[in-house]
Amino acid sequence: MREEVMSENKDKQAIVIGGSIAGLLAARVLADRFSTVTIIERDHFPESPQLRKGVPQSAQPHVLFARGYRILEELFPGIDKELQASGALPIDWAQEFHQFSHGGWNAIAPSSSNIVSLTCSRPLLEWAIRQRSHNPKVRFLSGCRVAGLLFNPSKTEISGVSLRSRNSADPVTLPADLVVDASGRSSLAPHWLKGLGFTPPPETIVNPFLGYATRRYRPPQGFQPEWKVMLINQSPPDGARLGYIAQIENNEWIVTLGGYGHDFPPLDDQGFLAFARSLPSPVFYQTIKDAYPLPPIYAHRATTNRLRHYEQVKLPQGFIALGDAVCALCPVYGQGMTVSAVSAIVLRDWLKRSSSTLDFQKDLAKSNALPWAIATTQDSRFPTTAGRSKPNLLGELMHKYTDRVLQLTNEDPQMYTLIMEIGHQLKSPATLYHPKVMLQVLGRGQR
Ligand SMILES: Cc1cc2nc3c(=O)[nH]c(=O)nc-3n(C[C@H](O)[C@H](O)[C@H](O)COP(=O)(O)OP(=O)(O)OC[C@H]3O[C@@H](n4cnc5c(N)ncnc54)[C@H](O)[C@@H]3O)c2cc1C
Repeated sequence: MREEVMSENKDKQAIVIGGSIAGLLAARVLADRFSTVTIIERDHFPESPQLRKGVPQSAQPHVLFARGYRILEELFPGIDKELQASGALPIDWAQEFHQFSHGGWNAIAPSSSNIVSLTCSRPLLEWAIRQRSHNPKVRFLSGCRVAGLLFNPSKTEISGVSLRSRNSADPVTLPADLVVDASGRSSLAPHWLKGLGFTPPPETIVNPFLGYATRRYRPPQGFQPEWKVMLINQSPPDGARLGYIAQIENNEWIVTLGGYGHDFPPLDDQGFLAFARSLPSPVFYQTIKDAYPLPPIYAHRATTNRLRHYEQVKLPQGFIALGDAVCALCPVYGQGMTVSAVSAIVLRDWLKRSSSTLDFQKDLAKSNALPWAIATTQDSRFPTTAGRSKPNLLGELMHKYTDRVLQLTNEDPQMYTLIMEIGHQLKSPATLYHPKVMLQVLGRGQR
């Protein structure tokens, strides 16, 4: 029985397809239960924090939520200090995140909060996690592309994967007792499964047609802003544009413009600045106009929300999927890496419980449900979003209520702190419906 395999896997092999955030975190928890964990990655890993081809979103900004940060520190104690030693900056999101939304800037918390994480580039974060993933039980096969899944003759259990290395035309096979697909939003696993006669997972797709344009800047000399991250929010249904600046390592800023519904920001210098000038607050343009732009400008338009319902299909034991391969989210809400971190915790708990692989996908589906709802509900407020679900009366009321809460965050630091705690997945959104909070919010509505 597979259930025994999961609990007594001293001589068992696990394979992880993809050595990015979800794959590395999954490997970390698998190493506690398997004798060997092999991470197979199509890229050759760079020796230092650099962009890599297999993760085309690397050049784009990556917010790390407080919950994701806490899980990282739990899985790799001390990684926070290592990241800071490499230039990552600590951030208190209730004080150092300045956000323009609903016609104004948020109220800053008067004292420090526990909503903390780090701000740095995506390559630095991934590199630090990869450095910490080296472990006698974890081996890396880089420059190898997984080409398919292998099963036992009766197709009831996984037996391994076939892979191709960059240096050889012939595929080789690698045996495994558990194969974890962490190959991201363009995962080919559904296609492989279909080719083998299995039903692939049904998919839900909600496409906001959001495009990013991102470039680095050096701040003007002597300029010391009070913010570490600044965001000019989009405001559906008509305000399709957003702007984001984060201080990161090496005294650089990562500056991103975004546009919903095909309103893609231009990739030339003049067009970039003109788009920045069109944002609802002039502060964004004023901040970057005297800073020093560093080429190039990177575009990214693969921002579709895509949910693969592995929990709804019966697949052979020993194959699971997680991270963006299951739940790829529109990036504007900054949830993806935290979703991957939470997936690793779901994996750890499932391994302890020794249950079937379908149970894992069911547990994961539950944990993905809220981030999915946040991203798709917000994206659906733009009429240009494909696959959007129109809210019913209750949904409309909830939108109105949330808008009031967000307006209140511009006057009330406590409300802003609460919204940050919810956004950073430290508190449930249900907190907003606590009678005390509702009285405050509806009281403001009366005024
Ligand atoms: C524009 C953009 C901005 C984002 N911003 C944020 C943000 O602010 N905050 C946040 O938390 N998240 C953000 N995300 C999401 C975040 O990038 C992902 O959620 C995170 O990287 C986890 O994804 P993953 O590890 O599942 O997949 P990926 O990061 O996509 O990695 C998949 C890995 O699998 C490898 N691979 C693929 N196929 C194969 C194969 N056949 N064989 C071997 N290797 C293979 C790839 O090379 C890659 O290394 C953003 C995403 C995008 C697109």
